[in-house]
Amino acid sequence: MMRIEPFAFAGLPSRVIFGSGTLAQSGAEIARLGRKRALVLSTPNQKADAEALASRLGDVAAGVFAEATMHTPSEVTEQALAAFKASGADCVVALGGGSTIGLGKAIATRTGADQVVIPTTYAGSEMTNILGETARGEKVTRRDPSILPETVIYDVDLTLTLPVPLAVTSGLNAMAHAAEALYARDRNPIITLLANDAIRALADALPAIARDGGDRTARGTALYGAWLCGAALGGASMALHHKLCHTLGGSFAMPHSETHAILLPHTIGFNAVEVPELLRPVSSALGGAPGAALFDFAVSLGAPTRLKDFGLSEADLDRAASIAVANPYWNPRPFDQSAIRSLLRDAWEGRRPAH
Ligand code: NAD
Repeated sequence: MMRIEPFAFAGLPSRVIFGSGTLAQSGAEIARLGRKRALVLSTPNQKADAEALASRLGDVAAGVFAEATMHTPSEVTEQALAAFKASGADCVVALGGGSTIGLGKAIATRTGADQVVIPTTYAGSEMTNILGETARGEKVTRRDPSILPETVIYDVDLTLTLPVPLAVTSGLNAMAHAAEALYARDRNPIITLLANDAIRALADALPAIARDGGDRTARGTALYGAWLCGAALGGASMALHHKLCHTLGGSFAMPHSETHAILLPHTIGFNAVEVPELLRPVSSALGGAPGAALFDFAVSLGAPTRLKDFGLSEADLDRAASIAVANPYWNPRPFDQSAIRSLLRDAWEGRRPAH
């Protein structure tokens, strides 16, 4: 029989619209929030999509700011805040991945603006009250209710252009949220349910997307899984895996989804020694020991497996290990600097984990 430990569950506070062609509902969702003028945000890469959305919104669009940048650097936030104020907007529409969503959150928490978020990757930021911002070479993460987006519109059509290599690493980034939620200290049965289904959905969808990026059914399943993963990230505290990714992203400018994809088998393999039962959903979905199975899965998808391929030097590993243990997150398995150095070294070389 299942054993239910005492728990707290805060609910799933955002309004979620999921489907195909749902972008068309953006104007109605802004009106539903009682807002009148939206600044549309994107990265330079997705500027054309942001401009098309602004034209579709007509008078409701207060302008487009298309300079969102990974890891939310403070200087970009300053420029965006100036654009937000000058435009007379009372809300933001973030169209894009975690970088664009992060910028929308940075504006919202400083101005009280509502956020309508239209995610186009699987990173999951849209479902969390977490904001990571980078200033002077260090990424600092905080939680606040003002950071959580009010409305999230998932439109499968917008994910069809997500290049397959990025879809794969972004999908593994999403799986990292679900995997760490399974052993989170503050997990609860609802988050565990979400994490379970999320892992199954992505385990099914990512191989199909790797074979055919135009597979709409798989893109839909992946986006659904990504929503659940985001909800797991928002509803439970993350541990060693996320700490190491924040360290490598914030202090070594490592790319976000690739870093998650490379580290995931190693961090989960490390923790599987301590909590194999809690990680059983990973083993069931992928077959085999959790870390090793995630490694084989990543290889089968053509995902990167070596930190050294992204500009991290061997000498950086010592500094990364020391930053990671200086202000650690709670983790189910205790660790010291030398254990982290060794884990990072395995990920740097792309060694298959044993557990
Ligand atoms: P991203 O937002 O930087 O996107 C990567 C690139 O892909 C960008 O150039 C983007 O324009 C492009 N792109 C995105 N969707 C596309 C699509 N459908 N078609 C074509 N191109 C597309 O990458 P990401 O991995 O989604 O986000 C990474 C950032 O999000 C990091 O800064 C990370 O810290 C943050 N993040 C925050 C949270 C949180 O809860 N606070 C959670 C996850 C990620």
